Amino acid sequence: MPDIKYISTRGKARSRGFVEAMLTGLAEDGGLFVPDRWPQFEKSEISDLAGRRYEEIAERVMLPFIGDDFSVCEFRGHIEAAYSGFAHDVRCPLVQIDSDMFLLELFHGPTLAFKDFAMQLIARLFQTVLERRGRRATIVGATSGDTGSAAMEAFRGMQSVDVFILFPDGRVSEIQRRQMTTVAEGNVHAVAVAGDFDDCQALVKAMFNDAEFRNRMKLAAINSINWARVLAQTVYYFSAATALGAPWRNVRFSIPTGNFGDIYSGYVARKMGLPIEALVIATNQNDILHRTISNGSYRIHEVRKSLSPSMDIQVSSNFERALFDACGRDGDSVGSMMARVGTGGFDIDSSVLAELRNQFLSGSCSEPETLAEIGSTKVSSGQLVCPHTAVGIKVARELKGPPGIPTVAFSTAHPAKFPDAVEQACDISPDLPQRMADIHQLPERICRVPNNLEAVQRAILERSSN
Ligand SMILES: *Cc1c(COP(=O)(O)O)cnc(C)c1O
Repeated sequence: MPDIKYISTRGKARSRGFVEAMLTGLAEDGGLFVPDRWPQFEKSEISDLAGRRYEEIAERVMLPFIGDDFSVCEFRGHIEAAYSGFAHDVRCPLVQIDSDMFLLELFHGPTLAFKDFAMQLIARLFQTVLERRGRRATIVGATSGDTGSAAMEAFRGMQSVDVFILFPDGRVSEIQRRQMTTVAEGNVHAVAVAGDFDDCQALVKAMFNDAEFRNRMKLAAINSINWARVLAQTVYYFSAATALGAPWRNVRFSIPTGNFGDIYSGYVARKMGLPIEALVIATNQNDILHRTISNGSYRIHEVRKSLSPSMDIQVSSNFERALFDACGRDGDSVGSMMARVGTGGFDIDSSVLAELRNQFLSGSCSEPETLAEIGSTKVSSGQLVCPHTAVGIKVARELKGPPGIPTVAFSTAHPAKFPDAVEQACDISPDLPQRMADIHQLPERICRVPNNLEAVQRAILERSSN
């Protein structure tokens, strides 16, 4: 079999190998890279993953996608290094909270959210590839909170990379902000934009569409649209499902969703043969995806600030990948739908909608429901959960699966990352893990900019070493 190539969801960019897709991020036609086919795992290969170390599962799941850009031995070394800084030996333990419901704790990495799983790995892959080629890159990303800190933590001190993370000023939690602004290494920069997350995301897209700036700065993206991130997150679907009896038992997943990256990773796992009974999109009050699945109309509303800020978005970038498959991999259709996002949205054909509903269930969770779920989960199971996690649990409870099918709700961040919401819900102030206790004492370094492309580009030029 030839190596997998990555093609664009808009069908007008040339295909790439794994490393090129990772370094490029967004395809030049504005589309997202997806593999040209799905590697298939036999039942026996899946059952053989059960009970193995996380690192071993990661190697087996990801290898078919990476081609020969890394030797097996080298790739294994990167995986080992990526997860060695996690505070839990099994990396993402399952915790039972109800007769058929489990939490998958994805917050044991250095910045306390699931973003560390992908970022710790791709930082190492980036550094290795750039060094090998004698090249440098400027990573520009937008964050609604957790991506930024995960990226800065993963890339800090790396020789070949400068990192600029745009975040919506005043709309991330204090811990999230401090995790970005207190990193000492000079190659990483926190940029506070006077706007919301969608503004930040639009600025990043505009910088990538500015060919001169893009080439001059050697821009690279590590947002959740980056294929390498999607791939790294696919691993924990395999580890959780096999721990609960897959492939001999189907498993349902409920994922608190914003940019659709984490849940799309589950879709990839399913395409590879993992028997996932349902993938549940759980949104907060910014519910564009729930509305889209419910009535087939993708319509942008104002973003409303919520208790779960990492999901406070309307334009959900990775959804384009699901759309691409749902419309039979027709890049022109995807392109014309996406062209209408800027003018408010688009309607989805009934056959495409039927396929999306075949792949995804959806539900949304209001602010009061989020608080109530944090409280009731604490009472019924003793577990203190973050507001994003509560959204996933609430929607999972509402859309109860068939009997005998376990549901895995993703615990996407540590509760101490969102102490205000947790305290409001149950009067308990969650403690930060000991290793982070000094974050309130460290000096902050922050670059404030208006919501304006030129101003942001100027700020980056001034601070870049490229
Ligand atoms: C990023 C994030 C999400 C949303 O994940 P997407 O991949 O953007 O859908 C949910 N919860 C937390 C804590 C996050 O950091």
